[in-house]
Amino acid sequence: MNPIQTDVLIIGAGPVGLFQVFQLGLQEISAQVVDAHTEIGGQCSALYPDKFIYDIPGVPRITGQQLVDQLQTQISPFKAPFHLGQCVQSILTKEDGFAVTTDTGTHFKARSIIIAAGVGAFVHRELPLPALKPFRVNTPQSFSPQVFTHLPEDVQIKGKALTVYGANESAVTLAIKASKQAHSGTDSGSTVLVYRREKLEIEGQLLKDFEDAVSSGLLQFRIAQITSIQTNQSLLTHLILTDTKGNEDTIPCDILIESLGLSPKLGPLVDWGIEMERKALKVNPETFATSTAGIYAVGDINTYPGKRKLILSGFHEATLAAYAIAARLREKEINLLEYTSASTRIHKLLGV
Ligand SMILES: Cc1cc2nc3c(=O)[nH]c(=O)nc-3n(C[C@H](O)[C@H](O)[C@H](O)COP(=O)(O)OP(=O)(O)OC[C@H]3O[C@@H](n4cnc5c(N)ncnc54)[C@H](O)[C@@H]3O)c2cc1C
Repeated sequence: MNPIQTDVLIIGAGPVGLFQVFQLGLQEISAQVVDAHTEIGGQCSALYPDKFIYDIPGVPRITGQQLVDQLQTQISPFKAPFHLGQCVQSILTKEDGFAVTTDTGTHFKARSIIIAAGVGAFVHRELPLPALKPFRVNTPQSFSPQVFTHLPEDVQIKGKALTVYGANESAVTLAIKASKQAHSGTDSGSTVLVYRREKLEIEGQLLKDFEDAVSSGLLQFRIAQITSIQTNQSLLTHLILTDTKGNEDTIPCDILIESLGLSPKLGPLVDWGIEMERKALKVNPETFATSTAGIYAVGDINTYPGKRKLILSGFHEATLAAYAIAARLREKEINLLEYTSASTRIHKLLGV
């Protein structure tokens, strides 16, 4: 497959990667964005979508998700393509740029790269049970997938034995919804929420809905760990649950949802041959260039004297990196400062 050609490939669609699209756009440089997570927004949308941020200049308060939504609107004139749900695995330096490959097999040919990888690639936490691996989606030796991180739309659950493992809002919401679907009509399935502790991370109306679903018998709640599985050739058939006292129980299982939230993994980045210091990429704070010519790093992933891991700092870094990349790609220094409030060139670009 031919690689996707781009001037700049931005690795990471957190707030800083998003603002990077805007700053490159002002320099009339096209960019494509890759993120391991299926949603844009990095930590803001994955870890604290509803919390207020109070230190964005000129914005007294804004939630994590609102900031991401506003950034998305701000960068929309530049129509940058996003490649979500794929983690960049390798970067190879070529004569005229970089060859980049993701874990889903997408290839890019980029003249320059900006790493805005934050605290790492957001990936779904998995149960530490190796036997489940072949039943997960996207594993090379995958049988017909039966283990998911969310319920895919094309998976039929009516009449099936479905287990959700987790304690957070998504896990409980999914379990309640699935319990209603699984029991509708004449085919009676079973829905079980399993978690190792009694206390779930829910409150208010959701807690009430959960209690109602359990007391009506639609949903079972088991306080246990999934310690083993039973299979019939290439089919996952049962889960072995072990409770806090060590008692084992076997329950049927056609579909397992692992709803354990997201965690960032630095992952492949450490193998890209770029100089690092304490799990961060060392950069020149004038240009945000890394030790590899043509590769820049902005936001939480970089380090330099005085570095603060703040969104505001990342926005500053993205601005200077865009100037540096413009100079590099055009092979001449163009440090002409243009105000967005006054420049007719910029107004044309923004369509205002
Ligand atoms: C609870 C909490 C509250 C916070 N409150 C504030 C606050 O009030 N003010 C403030 O300024 N800051 C705050 N922060 C910090 C702020 O969220 C970070 O500074 C900011 O998110 C950094 O943005 P980023 O774009 O550099 O990285 P991130 O937001 O971490 O985004 C990086 C993205 O890169 C992706 N990625 C990483 N590696 C790869 C790869 N190999 N391939 C593909 N994709 C990859 C990840 O999936 C992720 O989506 C808070 C952080 C937390 C956790």
